[in-house]
Amino acid sequence: MELESIIGQERPIRFLTQMLRERSIPHAFLFTGIDGIGKQKTATALGMALNCLSPVGVWACGECASCQKVISGSHPDMIGVKPDGAFVKIDQVRAVSRQLRLAPLEGNWRIVIINDAQAMNLEASNAILKILEEPPKGTVIILTASQTTDLLPTIVSRCRQIAFRPIPYEKVAEVLVDLRGLDRQMATTLAVSTRGSLGKALSVDGEKWTTWRMRVLEQIATLSIKSIQPIFSFADALARDKERLADALDMIMSWFRDVLMCKVSPGRIINRDFMAKIHLASQGRSVTELLEKVGAVHAAQTAISKNSNPRLALDVMMMRVLK
Ligand SMILES: [Zn+2]
Repeated sequence: MELESIIGQERPIRFLTQMLRERSIPHAFLFTGIDGIGKQKTATALGMALNCLSPVGVWACGECASCQKVISGSHPDMIGVKPDGAFVKIDQVRAVSRQLRLAPLEGNWRIVIINDAQAMNLEASNAILKILEEPPKGTVIILTASQTTDLLPTIVSRCRQIAFRPIPYEKVAEVLVDLRGLDRQMATTLAVSTRGSLGKALSVDGEKWTTWRMRVLEQIATLSIKSIQPIFSFADALARDKERLADALDMIMSWFRDVLMCKVSPGRIINRDFMAKIHLASQGRSVTELLEKVGAVHAAQTAISKNSNPRLALDVMMMRVLK
């Protein structure tokens, strides 16, 4: 995994470089941050560096037999776990645990990467905790998660936490221009509306995404409590579009956050192409009222991420944000 492909994460990389240089490798890491900003790539790069046969500086060469196996996903000492459906299950952790009882097969180090560790159910969490309590020698366990509060505190306390920040919008936009040939305006809108998640920005169709974003924002800007029917049809449409629901809620969140910012720090508004409408929406509203709206969207996001009925959560949210 070439380090150059990890963009905008200078701080975590600097920290890991230092650690590799000193050969003081903790037995467990927790990489936190939103999806699509390089946590998984960095975890792979770290595993690859530890087992590289001819490292360049402290990082992997990308060319030796060990690196080639990591790149093709066939290195026997790189063990990856990701949610099976909605959860990381106990059987998956048990399988890892069984493998860890044996010595590494090829490398000096065995690397276990558990992606989306927040998806571990309680049983799986407890099984991981057991591994973390008595870490096998030569093993590095890397958990990735959106935030520490999604995990058992006992797990968090046993890991070295490294926070990955969203990638600066300008950098994401630059990559989109270079790799996707998008024009600068669309690249910037896409970077902003995917909140600095390069992975997300690269995974969507730029044109479709921006059209859809315009529609969501236009709708949320024009809905009014005075006319109930459109509110419920909007909530209904959002709830049915399961694949894009989380993204739509992020957009709605960015809208209310912007309306709040318009009051307190207009320079930080992100949906700048909606400036006039954001300004209008902030008029006659107090900061307290606007904070309540941001809180309402956050509550809906939390409820839906915990598998509540989306339609119900959205109806409640709409009532709170539009009153
Ligand atoms: Zn190598």
